[in-house]
Amino acid sequence: MSAEFIPAAKPIIGDEEREAVDRVLRSGMVAQGPEVAAFESEFADHFVQGRETVAVNSGTSGQHLGLLAAGVGAGDEVIVPSFTFAATGNSVALSGATPVFADIDPQTFTLDPVAVEAAITPNTKGIMPVHLYGHPFLVDQIEDIAKKHNLAIYEDAAQAHGASWSGRSVGSIGDFAMFSLYPTKNMTSGEGGMVTCATPEIARNMRLLRNQGMETQYANEIVGFNMRMTDIHAAIGRVQLTKVDAWTRQRQANAAVLNDGLAGVAGLTTPYVAPEAVHVYHQYTIRVDPTERDRLREALKAEHNVGSGVYYPIPNHRLPSLEKYAPGLDLPETERAAKEVLALPVHPSLTAADLDRVIAGVTAVLSAGA
Ligand SMILES: *Cc1c(COP(=O)(O)O)cnc(C)c1O
Repeated sequence: MSAEFIPAAKPIIGDEEREAVDRVLRSGMVAQGPEVAAFESEFADHFVQGRETVAVNSGTSGQHLGLLAAGVGAGDEVIVPSFTFAATGNSVALSGATPVFADIDPQTFTLDPVAVEAAITPNTKGIMPVHLYGHPFLVDQIEDIAKKHNLAIYEDAAQAHGASWSGRSVGSIGDFAMFSLYPTKNMTSGEGGMVTCATPEIARNMRLLRNQGMETQYANEIVGFNMRMTDIHAAIGRVQLTKVDAWTRQRQANAAVLNDGLAGVAGLTTPYVAPEAVHVYHQYTIRVDPTERDRLREALKAEHNVGSGVYYPIPNHRLPSLEKYAPGLDLPETERAAKEVLALPVHPSLTAADLDRVIAGVTAVLSAGA
């Protein structure tokens, strides 16, 4: 096994990013300033025209502040998927509200509208669906339920920069939407988060909460946090913004190659894409029989030097941190997905030869087990 390791994810950081950081460092002004302001307006223009956008130090901070800015707090319930990164439920818990876990639709791995409707109580304030793996949630059905029951939608768009549903951009659907800028996401600022806001009130509340409750220096209006983004991080993000569309096209092209190459392989299901959806393939997630999944993952690494990932192995309602919100809850599709999913490399740095190796490796391991 001499071929180089193919990682499951690979951030791309180039000379332009390094030069941008250097420019900020040389200026001597490194905390939140003009780079952050420019990044906010460029991000909004790029992904969600017409929405006010607020930068923070992480995606998790963005979700947390977004909920507080939208008036969510103790006594409220927010419906979330359990099949996601823990930050989704954590942000609800941190706001003081109760995360209520609902099951997923098995095709898209996103919130099942029927399960969402069944989870509504008089205390439900909103729904926080996740555009998981870069595939939008089932926007029309979730919106219908939200309207019918007068609930807000808070988008977790951490993995979905540039995705859309019937031509509507992810990030322009809910009261607010959080995009993560963590290194393995479709674009990065090192660490960081961007929140697009549906109303000037939510945007203003977010700005206050991120900066000690101040709009004017030392005139603190409310109790707030320090969750500011630095100009150093914003400078990286601004450069990445000029590259992300080409990376997304490359992810989509890589996914098409994987779809073709894996189409005839017995024992796996390639990712579903809803007809309304533009999928940006943060992950390329296949389903494999639960008895084969871990063997495939280990053999890909050991025999083919190919990395892969399980997102996510433990449903959030079973985590020690969050299980108290879901005593005795049974979410069968979530449990099944946690045992069956495997994310194969799809990142834009892959070469045609890398993709061939991924396909050949998966084919060889699964046919050897049959
Ligand atoms: C990454 C991620 C987050 C949190 O973003 P951070 O920037 O890491 O804080 C939240 N939700 C989902 C679905 C994520 O993938």
